[in-house]
Amino acid sequence: MGLTGLAIFKQLPKKNCKECGVATCMAFAMALAAGKASLDACPYVTDEAKEALDSAAAPPIKTVKVGVGEKEVVLGDETVLFRHDKTFFHPTGLGFLVDDNDAELDAKIDNIDGLQFDRVGQHYVVEFVTLNNASGDAAAFAAAAEKAAAKKAVILKADDPAVLSAALDKIAAEKPLIYAATADNYEAITEVAKKYEVPMAVYAEGLDALEDLVNKIVALGYKELVIDPGSRQTAQVLADMTQIRRLAVKKTFRPFGYPTITFTSEEDALDEAIQAVAYVAKYCSIVVMKNAIKGYVLPILSWRQNVFTDPQKPVAVEPKLMEIGAVTPDSPLYITTNFSLSYYSVEGEVEASRIPSYIIPIDTDGTSVLTSWAAGKFGGEQIAAAMKANDMDSKLNHKDVIIPGFVAVIAAKLKDETGWNVIVGPKEASGISGFAKANFA
Ligand code: SF4
Repeated sequence: MGLTGLAIFKQLPKKNCKECGVATCMAFAMALAAGKASLDACPYVTDEAKEALDSAAAPPIKTVKVGVGEKEVVLGDETVLFRHDKTFFHPTGLGFLVDDNDAELDAKIDNIDGLQFDRVGQHYVVEFVTLNNASGDAAAFAAAAEKAAAKKAVILKADDPAVLSAALDKIAAEKPLIYAATADNYEAITEVAKKYEVPMAVYAEGLDALEDLVNKIVALGYKELVIDPGSRQTAQVLADMTQIRRLAVKKTFRPFGYPTITFTSEEDALDEAIQAVAYVAKYCSIVVMKNAIKGYVLPILSWRQNVFTDPQKPVAVEPKLMEIGAVTPDSPLYITTNFSLSYYSVEGEVEASRIPSYIIPIDTDGTSVLTSWAAGKFGGEQIAAAMKANDMDSKLNHKDVIIPGFVAVIAAKLKDETGWNVIVGPKEASGISGFAKANFA
């Protein structure tokens, strides 16, 4: 959240010496507020003022990173309560619990790693193995941590600082999140987090206790925090998370300006998935689950993708000629828009027809067939131009082009523009496979 010029001015030396390149301290403050100057330009600003300005200008929710390299998960740094106000930036990380003494530990870690999906041109994965120190044994925990860290970012769940240290001796370089500092152990756990330079979860029961505990930990000089208000029933989790987000972004309430974590409480896989879906929407940075079952995880990840897509930037594919299968000059040519969902729906059905085909996704700024047609972005002229740009006249032996059934109205114009025979295809992508088999098999 930016500061006002006046709030910045109060922290400046008020010498009006012009050394910063502007006429007065007030003018410099206004330039800083507008992001057009750097505080470094004033040689007289005190360290205290610098710190006050830096921390006041810090984002409302801190960015915290867990994991490294390809497994890095960026949490926090959200700025709004509602997606339509701007966008949500960092998708909720999903983790799955595994006990360190589970006889099937290896298989369970592999199963979590295998929760990967390709949908509408995007690759979905889950982020974390959450390793629970059920054994109470440091060596077993450390050995299991190494196995988990080989596959995923890790959340180390243990109460004992010595147990956490044993695991961190092995995998600190992988930047796991340690879970959790509580009112009883926070000094020792904070020491561990500081020593190994890893992020740390803070657990307290209720918002007041959480505020108190975060303040104590920040006073110890540590801010790489992920906060857990302790609630586990769905309605209470949603109330707490909403309150935390609201206070952080609307009131710049620093004790709650951190990413959040919660654990599902439902045992049944479907109930648990529904709980997780609610937590992805409001406003958990990490959700830890128990049932690592593909059929329940895919809908959560699809939902997450929807929630965290920038509403002002439709997901689009590159508007270039696509070849589906081993195409020949006799292959059919389909037209659709470059809105991801439209394109991949068509592509999936064309693939299912097992008839190699060309598809041209017309550049409609990522909007769907009817929306783009209504906006004048998807008509005979645009399609003719794309066909010409891709040199379809010389690529194909035939002169048939298939358009979506919803825009049958553009057929005549397209025929006029290209001289091609325009075939009106099915309205829904789901009809394409049958349509293709009936016409081109
Ligand atoms: Fe004011 Fe600092 Fe600029 Fe001098 S250099 S005018 S003290 S802001």
